[in-house]
Amino acid sequence: GARKALGQHFLLDLNLTARVAAAAGDLAGVTVIEVGPGPGGLTRALVESDAKAVVAVERDSRFVAALADVVAAAAGRLTIVEGDALEVDMTAIAPAPRAIVANLPYNVGTPMLVGWLRQIQEFRSLTLMFQKEVVDRIVAKPRTKDYGRLAVMSQWLADARLVFDIPPQAFSPPPKVMSAVVHITPRILPADAPSFKDMERVVAAAFNQRRKMLRAGLKGLVAQPEPLLEAAGILPTSRAEEVDVAGFVRLAHAWRAHQDTQF
Ligand code: SAM
Repeated sequence: GARKALGQHFLLDLNLTARVAAAAGDLAGVTVIEVGPGPGGLTRALVESDAKAVVAVERDSRFVAALADVVAAAAGRLTIVEGDALEVDMTAIAPAPRAIVANLPYNVGTPMLVGWLRQIQEFRSLTLMFQKEVVDRIVAKPRTKDYGRLAVMSQWLADARLVFDIPPQAFSPPPKVMSAVVHITPRILPADAPSFKDMERVVAAAFNQRRKMLRAGLKGLVAQPEPLLEAAGILPTSRAEEVDVAGFVRLAHAWRAHQDTQF
């Protein structure tokens, strides 16, 4: 049976697996990495797409064995890698251009996404299924309750678009919540863009006290946040959720300039 600890909810409806594969867009010439193929529903749809090849990373050895039939039918276009996708170097198992398509295990979906965002230029696109609540947090706009670290980091580095929702009954066993597919494509960043680390630190500090004024949260970063906020053109009385992605980029630049003047 399905293992709860590995977030196993399977999508077996052929119409839906085809729609998820289609949401990845044009895959001609692209090597697709599938995370968590499980019994292989989505895997088959990906093998049938125009992708050059599919590399599937699965942690549960029972599936690695069960997928042997799919591998045989794929005539050399499907490889299974047994391992923890959080630890596998995606650039080592698949040549560029590469894309990720996955019905992610819910408990590790967000850390996986953050790891891929860190190296987003390595991917043509990410097409991911999450609980809808996570997709809402990825695509959220400023001044909404879902807007936070995940929205700022995702939208700074990429275009993220909700493609469609998938109801619980589409899965076996059904999860408790609604799911959704998100399509993420890397943005081209200017040469002087802040580092991932600087941006992450500024955004984390800002949202650390999301109900307070921004200057309170930024005290975790610098003793005197006001000059940084002024340099970034942000009112010190703003709250983090009122600052757009461009504002956070300016803040990260201001913080870097401040750091560079320290010993
Ligand atoms: N792709 C299949 C589908 O759509 O029916 C299965 C999706 S199920 C939500 C998640 C799958 O990810 C399971 O097969 C599970 O064993 C696998 N998995 C869980 N944690 C993993 C990890 N850290 N690395 C690789 N696979 C993992």
